[in-house]
Amino acid sequence: MRNQTLARKEESQAIDSFDDVAQFEAIAEQLVWPQTSWVGNAWVDCGTQQTMPLRRSPVDGRILPALFEGDMALVDDAVSQARSAFHRGDWAHLSPASRKQVLLQMAVLLEAHATELCVMDCLSMGKPYARLVQQDAVKAAECFRWFAEWIDKVQGEYVPANGERIGWVEKTPLGVVAAITPWNYPLENIAWKLAPALAAGNCVVLKPAEQSSYSALRFAQLAAQAGLPAHVLNVVVGSGETVGQYLVEHPDVSAVFFTGSSRTGRTVCNSASRHRIKPVSVECGGKSPALIWHGCSNLQEAVEEVCGRVFGNAGQTCNAPSRLIVARPLLDQVRQIIVGISGTHVPCDPRVGRPQHGALCSHFDVERIDALVRTATDEGAELWVGGSPADVVPGGAYYLPTVLGNVAPHGALAQQEVFGPVLSVFTVDHLDDAIALANDSRYALAAGIYTDHLGDALAFQRGVYAGNVYINGWGMDDISVPFGGLGDSGNGTKDKGLRAFEKCFASRSITICTKRRAPGPT
Ligand code: ADP
Repeated sequence: MRNQTLARKEESQAIDSFDDVAQFEAIAEQLVWPQTSWVGNAWVDCGTQQTMPLRRSPVDGRILPALFEGDMALVDDAVSQARSAFHRGDWAHLSPASRKQVLLQMAVLLEAHATELCVMDCLSMGKPYARLVQQDAVKAAECFRWFAEWIDKVQGEYVPANGERIGWVEKTPLGVVAAITPWNYPLENIAWKLAPALAAGNCVVLKPAEQSSYSALRFAQLAAQAGLPAHVLNVVVGSGETVGQYLVEHPDVSAVFFTGSSRTGRTVCNSASRHRIKPVSVECGGKSPALIWHGCSNLQEAVEEVCGRVFGNAGQTCNAPSRLIVARPLLDQVRQIIVGISGTHVPCDPRVGRPQHGALCSHFDVERIDALVRTATDEGAELWVGGSPADVVPGGAYYLPTVLGNVAPHGALAQQEVFGPVLSVFTVDHLDDAIALANDSRYALAAGIYTDHLGDALAFQRGVYAGNVYINGWGMDDISVPFGGLGDSGNGTKDKGLRAFEKCFASRSITICTKRRAPGPT
């Protein structure tokens, strides 16, 4: 009831940012935090469920509301009900125009309720509220609109066959999709999985990250309000190792769409086919190289962009350019620029104003990142800026944006995904060396180069092994550009864009025999 009051207040627009903590806290206090799974367009009775281990908010250490953990029986129920809904055609057989309206309405409701969704996400995973509301929520809504627009444009192919056959290939939804999402862009990650899967006519069982389940649950409730029939979108809360794994292995799940760490991505690839062969799409971690090369006409802008991208979201972005490779003659200038702008990259209280940086997702991450930085300096890396936890809000989990030069190319910092605001700098003399260094990683998510020398840019582009290549601008945020990695960063499938839509269908070949048969005996 209180959530509805909040939504009415926000019907036209979400609150962009808060001027003071009291305002933010007043909203947070009004919220009814979802605490149990959502199956069949209803909250699951939590009477028989265990609570998950309580989490502390990375913003200030407060204990977040308890979440009741789904179990295997609940996964069985969610999957079997979703399967029945799929076979009855409750969703896929609605007219394309009706399905499109539902997805468009989901976008409208997401925007209308962005304040409450983003307050939940801010307290759960520490990102600045203003960024969540102005970027994540906006892009998530855009994603639903973009895929909604494709629903009534799905077409098949006519196949030339011999004179006695007519054939065509049509796209058909896969069935029940298991979506497993991470916490780093809570609403966007959900949108990247759900929007194309639902647009294609599938039913979905979503297992959101333990750290960001509240907004996923509330969004599922809004999707029902938008007109999504029961059992088409179900959200089962729980730990990855138990509920997630059981869902991925489930024989009645037709496909798995996962985003998360490479370690879990490998497990998911292995376990998905345990009881049944099914398509799997995994989008995993990265250790992406950005090369600042001769002919980089605006060095200041290039360095600022790399720092913005690697420190943004406290470095918890899979395609963050966490390895900066610099042409040796440019190193001193690059270092001066980094030191010069370091004052603009400081973590702040994520609840108020419009800060660039907030908290890390957990207190554990502060210690983990600090240990990696210390090991690197022990191995000879030079600390240029940062390098320690930050005292921002008492009880919170904050780390200073950190840059290290002279990082050992085979040390942990150069090879491991830090998933924190840490940039490692390397120098090279020749383009071939830069390409070799860029490829010296088991990850292959993204790579970028800054130069006005077109030939060098194209040679780099051809030479690097990565699912996404950026020339003179890091990242391509447009929803129409497919995104996904190779190597340990992914299995070559994509989120976003038409590629993401295509992967949500199976193709079916149909032939009609037109030859008249001789009448059989009566
Ligand atoms: P991170 O390390 O960034 O938290 P994870 O890869 O651990 O990323 O988690 C991403 C998502 O995968 C989360 O929803 C998590 O619960 C889920 N998950 C973790 N382990 C498994 C597993 N064995 N099978 C399926 N899902 C899992």
